[in-house]
Amino acid sequence: MNITDYTIEVPIEVIDTLQSMRQISGNENGGILLGSEIGEKHYRINRVSEPCMLIERSTRGGCTRDANKANEIIKREFELSNHTRFYLGEWHTHPENNPTPSSVDIASIYDVFSKSKIVIDGVFLAIVGRKSIFWGFHDGTQMHKIEVIVV
Ligand SMILES: [Zn+2]
Repeated sequence: MNITDYTIEVPIEVIDTLQSMRQISGNENGGILLGSEIGEKHYRINRVSEPCMLIERSTRGGCTRDANKANEIIKREFELSNHTRFYLGEWHTHPENNPTPSSVDIASIYDVFSKSKIVIDGVFLAIVGRKSIFWGFHDGTQMHKIEVIVV
């Protein structure tokens, strides 16, 4: 796949919500990303779950995985949106200004890619740092850093 063929939009409200959960002190936090297909290879990440709703396997500080809760949210959002909004990936915080994915992060997101029912051909990862957010997309082979369009 060629990641530059894809257009990924993120509403400013979603950026604000993610930044409000950034890790100044305390434990790493995380949740899931949901969104819609706007057109061919064009997605909008338009909803983030409340914290502590991870599908991936790891335990992050005080935030333990609750796949059942996460799956409930995915189902609920799918119904509420007339079947247009679906699971797109994961977000979590890092205690650094400009975050980059760790090898565990990449392994975890690959795990999601290989084990979950995903609608698109990859899984998004947002890492919320203290100053910036890292956006990535794992296509099953590798993690691509992506530039999102804030709308
Ligand atoms: Zn991480």
